[in-house]
Amino acid sequence: MLGIKHPIVQGGMQWVGRAEMTSAVANAGGLGILTALTQPSPEDLRKEIERCRQMTDQPFAVNLTILPTIKPIPYGDYVDVIIDSGIKIIETAGRNPEPFLGAMKAAGIKVIHKCTSIRHALKAESIGCDMVSVDGFECAGHPGEDDVTNLILLPLAAQRLKIPFIASGGFGDGRGLAAALALGADGINMGTRFMATTEAPVHENVKQAMVEASELDTALLFRSLRNTARVFKNSIAEQVLEIEDQEGATNFDDIAPLVKGTRGAVVFERGDMEYGVWSAGMVLGLISDIPSCEALIQRIVDEAQEIITTRLQGLIKPQE
Ligand code: NAD
Repeated sequence: MLGIKHPIVQGGMQWVGRAEMTSAVANAGGLGILTALTQPSPEDLRKEIERCRQMTDQPFAVNLTILPTIKPIPYGDYVDVIIDSGIKIIETAGRNPEPFLGAMKAAGIKVIHKCTSIRHALKAESIGCDMVSVDGFECAGHPGEDDVTNLILLPLAAQRLKIPFIASGGFGDGRGLAAALALGADGINMGTRFMATTEAPVHENVKQAMVEASELDTALLFRSLRNTARVFKNSIAEQVLEIEDQEGATNFDDIAPLVKGTRGAVVFERGDMEYGVWSAGMVLGLISDIPSCEALIQRIVDEAQEIITTRLQGLIKPQE
């Protein structure tokens, strides 16, 4: 459906989903995804799509995330640019994409909606999304409020959905790919793992921190606001948690100066690891090197094939 060689999608990462990242994944046979809101305006997104086209002749997608933001976002204008630019795959995330779906479908676009629960996945299917990306509690960014991991979400998705689905959250190696396929998914989506690659447009310090971190190095912010986000556990994240722990309702204005995305962008640009918060998933525990996207994808596919054809085949008793 997506015209890609390997069943591996690069997650829509704010500040990271730029042409360098997207084209590297596309050229390696996966689905690269530009993040619309990384670009300060719809016109900048138009230029970024063009820049990405100069860097790959393979299909790539654009992510549009509809969640609370500090500044209002002209979502409709971003959608117009995506359609106008001839993009054929969109990943929507956050709120229900229904207001934009008619225009996207009329333009022949395949829509993948990212969901953190089965009820949202079923809703996405019912409104006409072509595919969903099922995002388990392990994931980076916004895992929703249900805290259900992929060992439960993916088989449920396989039982209940008619449309194809991608497993998202906690994936970073061939074991994960083989497991996702066994659980019923059609492929995997990886964000955090793709950040620790040579082509990811983030500072070396960030990549190094990811190699050194363990699965225990993430924190869940904004729980008190029902807009939970999993981020790398640094001193800023700890300050936010302290504010959220204080008695009484959390006022977002008290934490906004600490968490604003523009500060997270500085972490990625300058490698100042304590300047802001940045999304990272529990898969940090599985990251121990910084390969190219090509080497990473090939390794994951080879590992999964080896597991499926050797280890799993070897577990089947010959029929009597
Ligand atoms: P931003 O600077 O506007 O906000 C920073 C964080 O605060 C975001 O997580 C946002 O959801 C949250 N937030 C903003 N206003 C809020 C409110 N009133 N109540 C509760 N939480 C609030 O965001 P940004 O970093 O410029 O990112 C732009 C968009 O991309 C946001 O919608 C953000 O949530 C989303 N995003 C998604 C992911 C992901 O899951 N892949 C990762 C990072 C950012």
